Amino acid sequence: MSVLAEFEALYGVEPEGIWAAPGRVNLIGEYTDFNDGFVMPLALPHTAVAAVARRTDGILRVHSADVEGGVVRLDVASLEPLSGTDWAAYPAGVVWALREAGHPITGADIHLTSTVPTGAGLSSSAALEVVTALALNDLFGLGLSRPELAVLAQRAENAFVGVPCGVMDQMASACTVEGHALFLDTRDLSYRQVPFDLAAQGLRLLVVDTRVKHALGDGAYAERRAGCEAGARALGVRTLREVPYAQLPDALARLSGEPESVRRCVRHVVSDNHRVERTIALLDAGDTAAVGPVLTEGHASLRDDLRVSCAELDLAVEAANAAGALGARMTGGGFGGSAIVLVAERDADAVAAAVEKAFAEAGFTAPRIFPAVPSAGARRQ
Ligand code: ADP
Ligand code: MG
Repeated sequence: MSVLAEFEALYGVEPEGIWAAPGRVNLIGEYTDFNDGFVMPLALPHTAVAAVARRTDGILRVHSADVEGGVVRLDVASLEPLSGTDWAAYPAGVVWALREAGHPITGADIHLTSTVPTGAGLSSSAALEVVTALALNDLFGLGLSRPELAVLAQRAENAFVGVPCGVMDQMASACTVEGHALFLDTRDLSYRQVPFDLAAQGLRLLVVDTRVKHALGDGAYAERRAGCEAGARALGVRTLREVPYAQLPDALARLSGEPESVRRCVRHVVSDNHRVERTIALLDAGDTAAVGPVLTEGHASLRDDLRVSCAELDLAVEAANAAGALGARMTGGGFGGSAIVLVAERDADAVAAAVEKAFAEAGFTAPRIFPAVPSAGARRQ
């Protein structure tokens, strides 16, 4: 059944429109977005789709085709942050954040379905938030910009759902353009669309979804955030973004009295910001293949300094590179989720097969491997 027909079957009326918002992979710049740093995500072809109609009676009804449990019915005036861990908190949080910002959302019927794999580090949560935010923005004529919608979606996830994510995922879903990566400065949300036409250069970017998510990820994320904040405080800067790469050795020397974990956070964030700048320079020069080693370097930093990788991600990177990939790294928060692999098109199948074989030999769950084709950002369909 189509999304439109499903909506009608659920709510007995036609939706006023259908919107889509993509998941993303991040090419480079990891754990930098809460340090005012640089990131470079691109949208996946996988999207969350929402059919939506306005209501005027203060009732919010949400339904997902992808989870059991039927329609969730809420009262918009009494939405409470952190009141539930259920999936409905994502769209409800967006309604809450819009109302908190003074926008008169008087209720809605929402039916969602998504092809973004959940919990794979590909931002199914941001896709859900952004598709909801864009639909309500259009229907209620709020006139908010894409970055404004992304920030409200992030606020929904931070304050309503209770997940302390940075703004990259929502900006990626809201602001990307087909065939491009998004060079985003998270300090002021300025961004540039960087042409990323892999096919024209005979290249492919593979996503390796390890299909595991290790439980220690949530606590570790908060701990790394705290480490970055401690490092910035000790260096007397507002965020680690303020530390230029050229001053990294000096900064580390000044941190000699700090815990090793803090020094590692500083080294990762400052060097990864620099890796984003190097990647931009290579892409601007048309040398996409040379981005490969920068990815592999970024993986080593996440594995050895930030320590947010895991055996499955390390194996994906090692096996891909050993089989002739140009470079690879984990992407997203780590502790499972996905890796990306930059590879010449002619080698892509052999590299994918090598990763699958390595996983089988290690006794790991079979990974899901697919190409990351730089796709369109959120839109009305
Ligand atoms: P990621 O964003 O990396 O996929 P998260 O843990 O941040 O992982 O978000 C996953 C959560 O988002 C799911 O547990 C679920 O609550 C919600 N979610 C994502 N997609 C859907 C969907 N299609 N229907 C309902 N809930 C969804
Ligand atoms: Mg998420």
